[in-house]
Amino acid sequence: MTPEPDMIDLFVIGGGINGAGVARDAAGRGLKVVLCEKDDLAQGTSSRSGKLVHGGLRYLEYYEFRLVREALIEREVLLRAAPHIIWPMRFVLPHSPQDRPAWLVRLGLFLYDHLGGRKTLPGTRTLDLRRDPEGAPLLDQYHKGFEYSDCWVDDARLVVLNAVGAAEKGATVLTRTACASARRENGAWTVQTRSIATGETRVFRARCVVNCAGPWVSDVINNVTGANSARKVRLVKGSHIIVPKWWSGQQAYLVQNHDKRVIFINPYEGDLALIGTTDIPWDDRAEDVAISDAEVDYLLAAVNRYFKEKLRPSDVLHSYSGVRPLFDDGQGNPSAVTRDYVFDLDATGGAPLLNVFGGKITTFRELAERGMRKLRGVFPQMGGDWTDEAPLPGGEIANADFESFLNLLRELHPWMPRPLVVHYARLYGARTKDVVAGAMNMAGLGRHFGGTLYEAEARYLVAREWAQTPEDILMRRTKHYLHLTPAEQRAFADWFTRSDLAQAA
Ligand SMILES: Cc1cc2nc3c(=O)[nH]c(=O)nc-3n(C[C@H](O)[C@H](O)[C@H](O)COP(=O)(O)OP(=O)(O)OC[C@H]3O[C@@H](n4cnc5c(N)ncnc54)[C@H](O)[C@@H]3O)c2cc1C
Repeated sequence: MTPEPDMIDLFVIGGGINGAGVARDAAGRGLKVVLCEKDDLAQGTSSRSGKLVHGGLRYLEYYEFRLVREALIEREVLLRAAPHIIWPMRFVLPHSPQDRPAWLVRLGLFLYDHLGGRKTLPGTRTLDLRRDPEGAPLLDQYHKGFEYSDCWVDDARLVVLNAVGAAEKGATVLTRTACASARRENGAWTVQTRSIATGETRVFRARCVVNCAGPWVSDVINNVTGANSARKVRLVKGSHIIVPKWWSGQQAYLVQNHDKRVIFINPYEGDLALIGTTDIPWDDRAEDVAISDAEVDYLLAAVNRYFKEKLRPSDVLHSYSGVRPLFDDGQGNPSAVTRDYVFDLDATGGAPLLNVFGGKITTFRELAERGMRKLRGVFPQMGGDWTDEAPLPGGEIANADFESFLNLLRELHPWMPRPLVVHYARLYGARTKDVVAGAMNMAGLGRHFGGTLYEAEARYLVAREWAQTPEDILMRRTKHYLHLTPAEQRAFADWFTRSDLAQAA
């Protein structure tokens, strides 16, 4: 006999930042939620971003005031919610008179400082690049500069923490499980999922489906739900390169290129620098996105135009590319396409489908909140907005004061080397105790694989964060892949595949 399908309120397709954010918000309102991701959490665009929680200074030139204001306000909301994975960063903008006049840059920064939401982040200051230390690595021709604030975020961990938060509020999180079909039947959805590993299928009956499939949003509309939408997604590739960091200090740089695009040069993972991004129309499958030699040359040329140190392609240690799932507003220039998000609510037959187009890492929480408000008619009994004051898992840190929290953690674990305490504090925040799991000395953390990777962390990630493969652990739950040698990574993968963890996953 076929088992009765599971009855739920909300079925969310896509475990990127938007799907995970919607699942957490909805579960916290008391709804019965399933979140379904065909790959690993954040394996799509949400682990391939520029990793900034930012207002988007350059969007002001496109008059996107509402988006910039909302994003600026979100910076401090998110900083309070997850001070372990989000932190303030100062950006140095050397002024290049050929590209934009100084008054325009100053006006943009004035608006940025005053459009809203800035309470704790310091405002803009003007720099004399010939005298201030931030100017030291720059070519002598750059005399004047500006320095302003935005925030850094570990994008993949932000997704996972939302999924953990959703699960803690009762949501079911299915990874490596595709939503194979969704059909309207008798005023509700019949949704079928398929496990990528085993092919096993499962059926749910859901009152409502939210399509947060990012670059695959139209694919899901057309091929999974069989519905229609007049709206379209515009895919735009963006790539980043990772090189050894060559300047001193924790400040990032933002340089203007000849084509008027801006390139971020950010300190990354201690002794590395993350440089990006590009904006290139993408018509192929989102899964196949990869950096081209021309993009590497473009990014290096932008850096070399400003810095004394000259970078070459051989300096590039790693790279990654992602596809922006932008709402197609008909703009020709990919850089000019809106970065704002748009909802498309199709309530045919009393079983709503909410499609999400666009949306940034920065605005995921607002997007989820607004999306849920749109569904109030479907779920009149659900709870109100709640995420603006709620910490994300691990973010339960007194006064969001990360430095005091770190000191406390060091006192609690005096036997741990400082780099390891910092690593745990940054990734797991107040959940560090669950990673350490009662260990009283280094031996208690189990096998050491190199860098700051110990067995205890791998076990935590499989048990609590849906990690299933060595790559999930090395690349998305953590960034150990940047710090372990290829031989150490192979040894970890061998151990993982032969250990009980591979079975548990
Ligand atoms: C180069 C670049 C730089 C960026 N920089 C920034 C930045 O600095 N700050 C910022 O705020 N934003 C930035 N963004 C934007 C941001 O990364 C994206 O807007 C955001 O990650 C999109 O999230 P998403 O959840 O919509 O999509 P995704 O993260 O792609 O998630 C969609 C998920 O749906 C899943 N899926 C698809 N079909 C199915 C199915 N049938 N069943 C189950 N699952 C399915 C996919 O596997 C995927 O994981 C950047 C984007 C790019 C590309």
